[in-house]
This record gives sequence, structure tokens and C-alpha cells, in this order.
Amino acid sequence: MDSLFIASLFVILLILYSSFFLLIPGRRALKIVAICSFIIATFASYSADTYGIFIDRDMVRNLFETDKREVGALLNLRFFAYAALLGALPCFLILRCHIQPYGITQRLKHGILFLVGGTALCVFLVFAFSAHYSSFLRKHKPLRYLLTPAAAVQGTIQYARSIIPDAHANLLVDKTGTTIRPAANAGDKPLLMFLVVGETARAQNFQLGGYQRPTNPELSNIDGLFYFNNVSSCGTSTAISLPCMFSHLQRDNFSVSAAARTTNLLDALKKAGVKVEWRDNNSGSKGVSARITTITYSPNDYTDKCNAESCFDEVMLKGLNERINATREDTVLVFHQVGSHGPAYANRYPQAFEKFTPVCRTNELNECTDAEIRNAYDNTILYTDHNIAQQIKLLQSMSDRFDSLLIYVSDHGESLGEKSLYLHGAPYVFAPDEQKKVPFMVWMSDGYRKRNHVNQQCLKSLLSRAYSHDNLYHTVLGSMSIKNDVYNKELDIWAECRVGANDS
Ligand SMILES: [Zn+2]
Repeated sequence: MDSLFIASLFVILLILYSSFFLLIPGRRALKIVAICSFIIATFASYSADTYGIFIDRDMVRNLFETDKREVGALLNLRFFAYAALLGALPCFLILRCHIQPYGITQRLKHGILFLVGGTALCVFLVFAFSAHYSSFLRKHKPLRYLLTPAAAVQGTIQYARSIIPDAHANLLVDKTGTTIRPAANAGDKPLLMFLVVGETARAQNFQLGGYQRPTNPELSNIDGLFYFNNVSSCGTSTAISLPCMFSHLQRDNFSVSAAARTTNLLDALKKAGVKVEWRDNNSGSKGVSARITTITYSPNDYTDKCNAESCFDEVMLKGLNERINATREDTVLVFHQVGSHGPAYANRYPQAFEKFTPVCRTNELNECTDAEIRNAYDNTILYTDHNIAQQIKLLQSMSDRFDSLLIYVSDHGESLGEKSLYLHGAPYVFAPDEQKKVPFMVWMSDGYRKRNHVNQQCLKSLLSRAYSHDNLYHTVLGSMSIKNDVYNKELDIWAECRVGANDS
């Protein structure tokens, strides 16, 4: 019965697609649409079969907003086999195929006959398997994202609509209103914040959050580090999470286009007179750093800290000491890591950090065991652990000149084969926790804690509470003692722990 049901599903899809093709006037147009459909279907089925990735609007956005290096990392022999068998071959056959010319009346007659017959057959099949259909469709809602190429075409249309410039396209709205920033007392050191944005680091693999493997040997030994173990991301991809976490719009009200028209956290800091800089070792800030100083790193400029594909995150520490020494103002430096970006995890860390072995060395994850994939991924976390620890040490070494803090949060998580899913980018409602739970931590220098009267016992009591990217905007502003009209103390994670500070 089950196989008959699957066959009926196939027949219904065949009728639906055929009906669509019947609506296309002209033989040449029919061939062009058919060829485009096969090309789109090739990409869609490759990513679904290989990585369990669904194609929707946000996935199309990732595809268009990613850089060449990332696309290169996804291309491999398997992809070219898909392109040849599912793309080139059908396209060739379509081109060779001769379509009989028909008169308009004959076309109409055939079309109506097919539509009536097809609809009748569909209705019959749905009734014959009604029990199957109702439970199957309820149980497997995400399946609609795997309809190839319909889901990919729908995603592309939705993406195109979302980027069509409207009348307000260039209008940047500043809703932050009045900014209040207390003047520094005489003798106060400048505030210095490192805001480290992780990439594809998932909370499940952080030893600090209870992971069984020693992936955080350095951070585990740092005093005054607070790790929050129940934090959710805004999206499951960089293109969504990045603009969302820097926006004051909550996840429920967030859209990429609305955020692009509104000033963000970095703009608010700049407006308050803080020096802000974005250092990017990833594929760009997705517009977040559009109005502030942005530094990017390329393998051509730093051969000793990079491989052919990308640079190791420690490249962002180059020249940092000198850069900070020249600073006398309150400063926020954002570090956008390449972190644990897949599928070529083994390319994200220097050899010395290959502690968990054997590792998956190819971007063809299907050629590796899940254990090899996890080993390579855990090495990326181990390397991130080292980088954050280095940054904290740098801040510690400058504590005579700055009161400092470091906040680290990842943009989204990653699937490593659980439920047969790989990578990230699943539609948020269906996405598993592996893609949505992110590591989040803060470290404060003694000077910073004293100056802001931060109660550590209070901080400790917050570590298991549920937070999300929605909290970041308010927590960063609050930590820099800045308030504006959209600042919400309720969302400022450790506001309640700044006892007696000028926080009223
Ligand atoms: Zn990302």
C-alpha cells in the first residue's frame, strides 16, 4: 500500500508539472522553460541529496550573497556528476527533441482534455489514499521544500521580490532617538569591547556548555568568563542572522529588507561617539558594517596565516596591538570569524589544532563517516577556543590602559549528520536545535567589573536562562553604558547585575 501511495504522489506531481507546461505558448518558449527547470532542479536535488538542504527564499539569498570561495568549497566531483546526468543530458535531449506544430484549436482541445482528465485522476488518487495524504502531509511538512524544481523556483521568485528596490530603498531610518552616554569620570580609562561574531559554531560542541570532549581547554581555565548555555540564533544562515543580531528589531518583526533600511547596533554605537571597526575574515558583513570602517583579509595578503581557500581567524589579530595602543577613545572592535564554516572544516584551522582524528578532508561529506566529520568540526571549535583565549589575553595585557570586555556569539549552528541533515540553512520552523542553539559568552576585565559594579554571583545565576540574538543589541549598548530610545533594559542580559551603576 505504501509503495502504491508513493506512486500516486508521483503521478499527481507529473500531472501538475505537465499542466504547467501545457500553459506555455510556443514551442521555443516551452524548450527554454524546460531547460531552465532542469538546471534549477540539478542544483536543488544536489543540495538536498548531498547535504539535506532545502531550497527556500533564504537559501537562494545565501547562494546570491555568498562569495566565490564559498561556492568553490561546495563544488566537487559529485556535483559535476549531477550536472552532467541531471542537467546537461536532459537539456541536450530537449534541444534535440522535435515538437509537433499544432494549431490553436487543436492545442486548446488537447489542453482541456488533459486538464479535465488530469484533475479527475488527481481527485480520485487523493480520495483513494486520503488517510495517507492527510497524515503524510501533516507529518512531513518540510517535504514541500524538496519539490524539485517547484520549491527552488518559488524561492527564487520570493528572493527576487525581496530585493526589488522600492521607493524607500535608500532611506535609512534612524529610530534610535536620543542617545544618552555618561561622560567619563576623570581618571576613567577608555572602554574597549571585542565583539566576536562566530561562524557556524553550535552550542552542542562547546565543552563550556557540557560537551563531553575537551573542545575548550583554554577558555575553561580563564577566570571571569561566563558561558550562557541556552541561547538561540535569529536565523539558520549568515545572511539572516547577521543583520538580525545587529538590529533592534526583534526576530518576530525582523526582515532583511526592513533591517537594511534601519540603522543598526554599529550605527547606534557610532552615533554615541564610540569608535567602531569591523574586521572581517568571512564573506562580508551582509551590509551591517556599511557605514563604519571595515577591514577584510585575503589569502593573497597574509600567506603565512592562510591556505588557498581562506585565512585562519588569528589573521585578525595581526597588527591589533599597535592599532589599539593608538586608541584613547571608547572603542568596539567587531571580529567576524570564518570559524567553523563547512563543508571543508579541516581547512579552517592550522595543523597544530588537529587534535581530534581522523578527520574528513574533503568537501564531499558523503565520502566521510559522521565521526570524521565531527572530528574535523571539533577541531574548528578547538581553534576558536584558542583564538578567543588569545583575544582575552590581549585585553588582559592592556588592563592598565583600558577597561575591557569580550562578547562572543555565533551566528547559527550546524547539522553534522543528525536526522540525515548536514550544514545549515534549514527553514527556521523546521530547523533542528543543532542549527539554532549557539554559544554565547562574556569576559570582563577586573577594571571593567569594578567600574560598572558587576556582581559575579548575579551573572552566574543567569547562565541557564533562555536568551537569543534579540538580546545582543541591548546588551552591547548597556555594556558600553549607552542608552537610546529603542534600548530595552529587559533585554539587556546583565543589566540587573550592574548593581548601583548609573543604570537607573
Ligand atoms: Zn553563518
